[in-house]
Amino acid sequence: MNDPFVHLCQPDAGKSCGACCGLYNYADGTRASLVGRLRTRTARFHASVRGSEDLPAFSEQTRQAEDQAKRYEVIYCCEYIGFLDPEEKRVGCLLHPLQNDGADLRGVSFYGRELCDGHFCPSYHYISRQEKLALLHIFDDWYLYGLCLTDIDLVKTYFRLISDGVCEAPAPERFQNGPLREAARRFFAFKLTWPFRSPAVNRLGKYYFDGSQYMIKHIDYERLGCEPSRFDRIFLSLSSEFTSREALTAAERLIQAGIDEFIENW
Ligand code: SF4
Ligand code: SF4
Repeated sequence: MNDPFVHLCQPDAGKSCGACCGLYNYADGTRASLVGRLRTRTARFHASVRGSEDLPAFSEQTRQAEDQAKRYEVIYCCEYIGFLDPEEKRVGCLLHPLQNDGADLRGVSFYGRELCDGHFCPSYHYISRQEKLALLHIFDDWYLYGLCLTDIDLVKTYFRLISDGVCEAPAPERFQNGPLREAARRFFAFKLTWPFRSPAVNRLGKYYFDGSQYMIKHIDYERLGCEPSRFDRIFLSLSSEFTSREALTAAERLIQAGIDEFIENW
């Protein structure tokens, strides 16, 4: 926590992120599906890989055994992401030297060793240090952590709204435990529980995928007969789709209640 560089990929023993390895790009990106996928391939890796010569067979078997349907064809889903610990709290690269007695096997990967080793996603740049440290306190679960951490709009908008509400930027320590942490966790859990989420497989947050392109979705407020919502960015992050103005109003109430819960507990 005192390190000026905040490591978002593998921050602690209780969580990690695997978003840029394509984890959330499987068409079935539910937690249960991903846990099953990662558990099986991790066991296969430990049972069958003794060195780089075993990797082609591992890759082939994993691809044959798993459903390869994706949300967006152009984004690669890497077969080498698995669980790094027996408790299945951390997802990450099975080819990393720390997983292989110091041997770096990432040279066989789709992106290559240098890219895998040196990639820092936009969250590193756009999320402030204070916000990063707060996120590390808020989450203790890889699945939700990776989903939210990489949704910069959701993170930035949430922290802006609560900061406006309490007239200061909350210090990260305020999220360590207690009702403020609970309020933030409940808010970010909307990523999993949001009742207005589009069921479309080609949606992920504000993006939708159409053939070889990805685009940013817009909510058709005109059709609903109203102005754009003050929560538009959050709605898009939550892959929202509204069929009526009543639904939009109900969604605004939910978001406002989530913000208010934090402010009231300040
Ligand atoms: S998406 Fe960002 S935080 Fe997540 S593993 Fe990739 S670089 Fe790390
Ligand atoms: S080989 Fe690269 S893309 Fe695949 S899991 Fe490892 S770091 Fe991620």
